[in-house]
Amino acid sequence: MDFSLTKKQKMIREKTREFCEVNIIPVAQESDQKQELDPAVMEKMKKMNYFGSCIPEEYGGAGLHDDTIAFSIITEEIGRVDASWSITTGVHCSVCAYPIYKFGTEEQKEKFLINLAKGDKIGAFCLTEANAGSDVGGVQMTAEKEGDEYLLNGSKIFATNGGIAETLLVVGKTGEKGSRKELTVFIVDRDTPGYSVGVREDKLGCRASNTSELVFDNVRVPEENILGQLGGGFRLGLQILDYGRISIAAQCLGLAQGCLEAAIKYANERKQFGQKIARFQGIQWKIADITTAVESSRLLTYKAAWMCDQGMDYGLTASMAKLVASEAGMMAAHQAVQIHGGYGLMKAYPVERFFRDAKMGEIYEGTSEIQRMVIANHMLK
Ligand SMILES: Cc1cc2nc3c(=O)[nH]c(=O)nc-3n(C[C@H](O)[C@H](O)[C@H](O)COP(=O)(O)OP(=O)(O)OC[C@H]3O[C@@H](n4cnc5c(N)ncnc54)[C@H](O)[C@@H]3O)c2cc1C
Repeated sequence: MDFSLTKKQKMIREKTREFCEVNIIPVAQESDQKQELDPAVMEKMKKMNYFGSCIPEEYGGAGLHDDTIAFSIITEEIGRVDASWSITTGVHCSVCAYPIYKFGTEEQKEKFLINLAKGDKIGAFCLTEANAGSDVGGVQMTAEKEGDEYLLNGSKIFATNGGIAETLLVVGKTGEKGSRKELTVFIVDRDTPGYSVGVREDKLGCRASNTSELVFDNVRVPEENILGQLGGGFRLGLQILDYGRISIAAQCLGLAQGCLEAAIKYANERKQFGQKIARFQGIQWKIADITTAVESSRLLTYKAAWMCDQGMDYGLTASMAKLVASEAGMMAAHQAVQIHGGYGLMKAYPVERFFRDAKMGEIYEGTSEIQRMVIANHMLK
């Protein structure tokens, strides 16, 4: 068993880390307070091809569609400094662009994927509704057939990138309630009449990331915009989320790594009782626990990514990676703030932001309870 990264993967980590330190760190705190992604960083990210990381070069991407470990490293490195950016690129890539590459027709790839891969258009994945959170079966958005078009009516909530997205994957009901063929995934262009952005959420963490309500009022979508099969949306949605969970695991892993580094730095600087607090066993044990959680998260995340690239069934491992990494992120942020004492609550230190950002990992794309349910279902079937 070889755990070493390839030369290319190491280079990608080095380059992404440098990019993040030069471009994201200086503006991360301000972006969090303004609840806005920095437009200059957005442009630079497009140039780095981060919006096309997991898309082949022939569609304008960076060609890491078969190197999910490298894609995870990018998401992890961005997450190490700013979860908001990691979520923005991660969601765009993993649950919008990649599914179009993986399940779309050649026409759909020409029409939507190239713009997504170049970052000329931002993508979103829209499943959650007021009465459909953990329970996907609760989706009420209707998609009625009219000629060779579908008429979408209803609203989605909590859509990451919602307010800035121009290409959306939207899950609607095309079949009888309760039937396995009830749901279908549609690719929707923001400029379609009847589509509008509703309330933008004011969140605890990941505040620069846009989370919005989206309203569909007689939105006409041509039949050729169905992603995958008519009525295949339940299964396809789960497949999309499997890949998305690797990306979230990587984002949370990065956040935990960022917390670890901040905690070590502070523990080596701060003196109390005449010595560095790093000399106290109470602090050392926290560092040991965070380090162990970071490494377990990394192993599971890269394993899920590797299994994906081998064409293996990786859903179970992706769920375990997401569960372990999101809980590691939460624990790491909690302990990193504790190590900072009172300063941990101050905006002058990044751990204050990491602490607020960490919670999101345990909620979106399936809560920790739902991950445990998925894992148990795999084991008990
Ligand atoms: C910041 C943010 C970004 C998001 N981005 C997106 C996005 O881009 N696209 C999208 O479609 N959605 C998105 N979501 C929605 C997210 O996926 C849901 O919030 C999540 O799946 C939980 O649904 P819910 O909030 O309705 O909670 P509920 O489903 O109402 O759950 C409430 C509680 O009950 C628990 N629970 C529910 N069912 C069970 C069960 N069977 N067993 C045990 N416990 C259970 C849950 O774990 C939770 O603790 C986002 C959410 C947030 C907060």
